[in-house]
Amino acid sequence: MSSSSSRSSAPVVVWFRDDQRLTDNPALEHAVGTGHPLVCVYVHDPQPRTTRPPGAAVRWWLHESLRELDAALTAMGGGLVLLQGPEQQAIEAFAASIGAAAVCWNRRYSPAQRETDAAIKAALKDRGIAVPTFNGHLLREPWTVATREGQPFQVFGAYWRAARRDYSPEPPRPAPEHIDFFPLPDAARALATDLPALALQPRTPDWAGGLRASWQCGEQAGLRRLQAFLSQTLAGYAGGRDMPAQRATSRLSPYLRFGNLSVRQVWYAALSAAQAGRGDPSAARIAGADLDKFLDELGWREFSYYLLYHFAPLHQVNFKRQFDAMPWRADPQALDAWRRGRTGYPLVDAGMRELWHTGWMHNRVRMAAASFLIKHLLIDWRVGEAWFWDTLVDADEASNPASWQWVAGSGADAAPYFRIFNPVLQGQKFDPQGDYVRRWVPELARLPDAAIHAPWLARPAQLAAASFQPGNDYPLPVVDHQDARARALAAMDGLRGRAAAV
Ligand code: FAD
Repeated sequence: MSSSSSRSSAPVVVWFRDDQRLTDNPALEHAVGTGHPLVCVYVHDPQPRTTRPPGAAVRWWLHESLRELDAALTAMGGGLVLLQGPEQQAIEAFAASIGAAAVCWNRRYSPAQRETDAAIKAALKDRGIAVPTFNGHLLREPWTVATREGQPFQVFGAYWRAARRDYSPEPPRPAPEHIDFFPLPDAARALATDLPALALQPRTPDWAGGLRASWQCGEQAGLRRLQAFLSQTLAGYAGGRDMPAQRATSRLSPYLRFGNLSVRQVWYAALSAAQAGRGDPSAARIAGADLDKFLDELGWREFSYYLLYHFAPLHQVNFKRQFDAMPWRADPQALDAWRRGRTGYPLVDAGMRELWHTGWMHNRVRMAAASFLIKHLLIDWRVGEAWFWDTLVDADEASNPASWQWVAGSGADAAPYFRIFNPVLQGQKFDPQGDYVRRWVPELARLPDAAIHAPWLARPAQLAAASFQPGNDYPLPVVDHQDARARALAAMDGLRGRAAAV
């Protein structure tokens, strides 16, 4: 469709999904470029039948992010139209009510989303409505990277080398300077709803106080976070990123999840910060290793989407099918202790409480907490994945299940099953002064550094000095590390025998 189209005054719909920003938004840029007046919409389906319903923390962020997007569009003379209901029904009815010439969107990658999008595209085309679609979420589309034999990669290193070879992502595009908004006719207005009606925020009880205190949502906040990361934290990222007490990672994950920032913006901004730093002696020194490590992490995000596209349903099915025979345990008490941060292992508990309070958890601790559930408690990784899905503000359909399967050992290019994190040693190594644990498990704060990761082993003098009683002030370990390790290895050995037999 072009601006010379005979239906030049017919509106073009921009359907926002996980691309809630004005900058570097290819669908929006295309729509503005057509010269047609625009209508910007978001569809919320409260009971999706095929796609995965968002978790509670994601719904909280979504509310805030939609509010910000609406404010940005309102400042440009228009606003965001909110629709509620099954996506196909809502978009088709709305497009028909305004006589749309086109509906544009940035693509999604789970099989269910792709099916939905394909059905909507076909239905709109049947009505004579054009449907241009774009990549606004990834550096590379998953189908553009393959082995020499044309098969999808299953190992991160090989995938990432191929994805980066001879390729640099398109530079990010600026936000439009001006948008010509289409005035909604009454029939279309009647289909729209308002943000409170979407009921995305918790009411009784309102548990989101910690989230509100921890985050500012939306595009502008994302841009500020990105700038702060580049100027303060990228230098030293490679060394500091594993230390949860330091704010040494970007905390950009929820902004990337909702597309408040595009991954291309982040990619290019990191490259330019590293280049600018080289010519500016006063700037913090961003070592090559800091930049490479950070870009590799964006690569893990890409790889997760790649797996989602080629091998879903990632959150339901073991990538390595021999894990189907894993003798998972049901242990409601231990599961409850894990969820509430009361396992008796301080690093795990600190992480689970950080998650509950802020909707985010440091990556190193995510690995330790997930490993603890799967290997120490022998609880199915899907149970833990579902809890993270509900409580993380960055929970996404690709990175969450792919990471859980990575930790379980059932995933593509996963950590070997026999590598069982010792939660005490993990704490001593990555939180040597116990600052992270003290912050999130305050009942341990008075223990000395030497005892903080294994309070049940503290000497009587240390306990007395801290007026601390293990088992009373803080739970004893729900499981003994050595016993749990032996049990997990035995379960794994059973799988190996099965794999050999297949
Ligand atoms: P940084 O270290 O600053 O990394 C920059 C960006 O790279 C992140 O914002 C994220 O988009 C991406 N990234 C970093 N590490 C990974 C990774 N291992 N896998 C995929 N992408 C990565 N990340 C999510 O975005 N959503 C999830 O639902 C999610 N669930 C996870 C569950 C488990 C059990 C584990 C072990 C990891 C999970 N991760 C998830 C990956 C990772 O923990 C987070 O992306 C990271 O902690 C976010 O913090 P950051 O933005 O400061 O990361």
